[in-house]
Amino acid sequence: MNLNPEEIAHVLRKIVGDEYVFTDVFERIAYADTSLPYDVEETDLPDVVVHPSDAREISEILKYANANGIAVTTYGSGTSLIFGTKPKHRGISLSTERLKYFDIREDHQWFECGAGVKAGYAIDALGKLGYFLPIQTQAGSSIGGAVSVNTIGHLTDNVFGRPVNNVLALEVVLPTGEIIETGSECLRRSAGWDLARIFIGSEGILGIITKVRMVLHPTPETVDAVGFFKSTEEIGRVIGLMYEKKLPLPMDGEFVGEKACKVGYEAYGLDFPEGALAVTRSMGWTKEEALRNANLLVDLFKSAGATDAFILEDETLKKQVWGVRENAMRWGQEKGLKGYLAIEVNPVLPRLPEAMKELVHITEGRKDLIGETSNYVYGHVGSDSLHCLFAFPYDWSTEKMKQVVDEIWNLEKELQLKYGGVGGDWGWLPHRVPFYREKYGEVSYGIIKKMKQLFDPNNILNRGNVEGEV
Ligand SMILES: Cc1cc2nc3c(=O)[nH]c(=O)nc-3n(C[C@H](O)[C@H](O)[C@H](O)COP(=O)(O)OP(=O)(O)OC[C@H]3O[C@@H](n4cnc5c(N)ncnc54)[C@H](O)[C@@H]3O)c2cc1C
Repeated sequence: MNLNPEEIAHVLRKIVGDEYVFTDVFERIAYADTSLPYDVEETDLPDVVVHPSDAREISEILKYANANGIAVTTYGSGTSLIFGTKPKHRGISLSTERLKYFDIREDHQWFECGAGVKAGYAIDALGKLGYFLPIQTQAGSSIGGAVSVNTIGHLTDNVFGRPVNNVLALEVVLPTGEIIETGSECLRRSAGWDLARIFIGSEGILGIITKVRMVLHPTPETVDAVGFFKSTEEIGRVIGLMYEKKLPLPMDGEFVGEKACKVGYEAYGLDFPEGALAVTRSMGWTKEEALRNANLLVDLFKSAGATDAFILEDETLKKQVWGVRENAMRWGQEKGLKGYLAIEVNPVLPRLPEAMKELVHITEGRKDLIGETSNYVYGHVGSDSLHCLFAFPYDWSTEKMKQVVDEIWNLEKELQLKYGGVGGDWGWLPHRVPFYREKYGEVSYGIIKKMKQLFDPNNILNRGNVEGEV
């Protein structure tokens, strides 16, 4: 591609209108920036940022980009923690922000929305009619982003499944500009071929999702409980027992390690037992059923050695306990105003306590830069999903930060391979391509690359991500 940014912008303005095309450096920085701990560089910036309003406009943009070999990076809300929205080859950053259409069809028992609709908006709108969105990611993240990554946020996988289990249909624009519809309007999902399943979880490399149709889930009754434990790994043992005893699974089961708890208790002025905490949201179709299920967990916590465990009835206390969890990541970073990078480790269930213990002590005795960071452990323990946030001084040089980021992704790969894990929240592309190749091998990786070539012969969509360019 040897078109200059102004030429590209000129064509895009004819498609979407002047006010939806941006070439100013601030807008370009905003669409290149991620939560990576070092500043974006000029080479990271897209040439143009465009905000199309619908599939037809996106189709025109992709036809033009495909004909001229221009890279197009799709941007939902840019909250992915594997930084798939950072352009690797300049070109166009395409925001789905204006795809805001939202329609709840109770008579059909599904809702349909534009890919740019925020998870928080959908959760509120469905909640008002007594329905629950089985995607509990960041409120500011987009439905299209969550479906492209096939993520559910904090929820327990075995309860509501993932987007691929709840999506009835998609509208997708292919890199060559064709607009396709997949799936069904009836509640019966198609057996056999359903192309929606190819695009869900493909992290934006095969097409741009413009519309999502999902089944409606009535909002269940819920009861929250908390358990305090002397150590983080004790929580791992309890979760193993929860599955072993076939107890009704909580729709959301979170934990916070000792260090992050300490920061949270200080912040909220909470006088809770020293150690780690587990907080769960049990569900039922009646309040009695939800309460019974929550009490089963409280009994389990107590029988497994919790220093205390009880049902969270007081709304303020409930908010504070969830606050300790929700803010573990932010506080970990703010404590000393530091840069940060978080990883995921999803061990096989029997090794959950061991992996938790290793993460709690992961920085001790290390000679590399990770040894100089402070780590905070927390996560979605209901789905045996662990996070560890590494925080480090902002005054480190960019080179030093880039080095520690490489070390941390490498450490994540080692731990995930050791404990049999996968990327459960954020997907693979681009930072986990080495991990994917080592875990599944070149034949499997080759299949992804061949699918990319088939759908996107000029490699315009999210160029560089499947190659693992960072
Ligand atoms: C503080 C914090 C906490 C988080 N906690 C969680 C958590 O607990 N669990 C979890 O799962 N995630 C979590 N995330 C990650 C993130 O919120 C989710 O991955 C979210 O679903 C991403 O949505 P997004 O709209 O921001 O996607 P983006 O970051 O914009 O995009 C993600 C990927 O999807 C592609 N994409 C986006 N929209 C489309 C589309 N319409 N068509 C095709 N491709 C598209 C992008 O190109 C990119 O490759 C967290 C993020 C932050 C910042």
